[in-house]
Formats: sequence, C-alpha cells, structure tokens
Amino acid sequence: MATPSSRNTEPLSTAAAPHDDDLDEVRTALDHGIEERVYIAISSALLGGKLRPNMQLRERNLAEVFGCSRGVIRKVLARLGVEGKLVLKHNRGAFVPCPSAEDMRQVYYARRVVETGIVTMLCGQLSPKQIKQLQQHVQAEELAFKQLRRDASIHLAGEFHVLLAQMVDSEELLAFIKRLVAKTELYKALYDPAEFVSCAPKEHQQIIEALKTRSVQEAVDLMTAHLDEVKNRVIVAAKNAEMPDLTSVFTENF
Ligand SMILES: [Zn+2]
Repeated sequence: MATPSSRNTEPLSTAAAPHDDDLDEVRTALDHGIEERVYIAISSALLGGKLRPNMQLRERNLAEVFGCSRGVIRKVLARLGVEGKLVLKHNRGAFVPCPSAEDMRQVYYARRVVETGIVTMLCGQLSPKQIKQLQQHVQAEELAFKQLRRDASIHLAGEFHVLLAQMVDSEELLAFIKRLVAKTELYKALYDPAEFVSCAPKEHQQIIEALKTRSVQEAVDLMTAHLDEVKNRVIVAAKNAEMPDLTSVFTENF
C-alpha cells in the first residue's frame, strides 16, 4: 500500500510529466516540420542552380532567413553533407561542392559501368506494369521540362535512373545508384546550361523502347551514349567555369 508521503508526491509528478512531455512533443514536431521545409528549400536552391560552387552557407544567416534556430539549420546542413550535396569543413562550415573535372569523370564512369549492367539485366524482362511505370515517369519529366521547372526536371531525370535500378531488386545496388545519381544531379545543377537541363526525356523513352524490344546491345549503347553526353556537357561547362575568359577579362578595360 502507498504511504501518505508517496500519495502526496506521486500525483504531482505524474500530473506535471505528461504536460512537459506534450510540450516537448509539440516542439519536436514543429522543429521537424521546419527542418523538413528548410531541407526542401535548400535542396531546391541547389538543384535549381541558384547556389554556386564553393559558396558558404552560414548557419546564422540561414537561421535569420528561415526564422528558425541555428540548431535546426545545423541538422539540415549535416543531412545535406551526408547526402553529398554540401561539403562540411571542420571548424569552417558548410559549402556548396566544387568538384573537379576528374571527380565528376569518375562518378559518371561508375554510373556507366553500373547502368549498362542494369539495362542488360532488365532487357526483355520488364512486365507491362513496369513499362507503364517508366513511361508515366517520362511523361512527368516532359511536363516539368515544358514548364521550365529546372530543379524538378533535374530531380525527375535522376529518378528515372533510380527507378530502373529499383526494378533490378537489389537494395545494395539501389543504395549505390542513389548516391551516384544524387552527385550527378548536383553536377548538372551547378554546371549544365539551363537550355540543356533535360536529361532528355526523349532519350529515356528510347531506352524504354530498347528494353521492350529485348535488344540488349541497343539498350547498352543508348545508355552509354546518354550518360556520356551529359558527362561531356557538364565537364566542359565546369572547365569553362574554372578558366576565366581572357577576352572578357581584358576587353572591358582596354
Ligand atoms: Zn537520364
């Protein structure tokens, strides 16, 4: 049986505890909500090409802009760092990546090796339902491209390749492809000229057609050409961005 003293203290502590817990839950939910919104806003800015290579994202500035705590910003920056969308430098802060041409070449090369393997496995094996799923995805890509939604276009283009990887049914492969695609999405956002932003819905459609007709060599060739074209465009643009244009440097003041 409870003693009088415990009877006195227990109701007080149990009455107070749920109240604090409730407040904590509300705070956590609010923080989570704002955290997600800040995450989406920064990701969209990155994929929309609005942030430039090497640009620093300062916690204090962002906390002011989004009207939230620096703790929330810190969590979002850490998450983007884990995803490879930002570079986190010890004691210096978060920066927009500035990959070298060689870094990018290596990532595109890995994609080519893995994704030609993916189309080889899928060729002639897809169900009508899967074909329909791929075609509907390409329609969404076309729409985003026509509506000039640059960040959505880049993201959907990348997701087409993730969708193909999903159809192979290997979690390891999917995780690997997701990481590679996230990196190349960012490369495109940073360096691909706006008018060429589509990872060509038309080319994706051609890949689907090759997968339907069971022509393994055609599917492999199309995937290789598709990835090589994007890689070359991005690397050329990145090199141009690194090298100042001497004509424009000197003609202004001469
Ligand atoms: Zn593509």
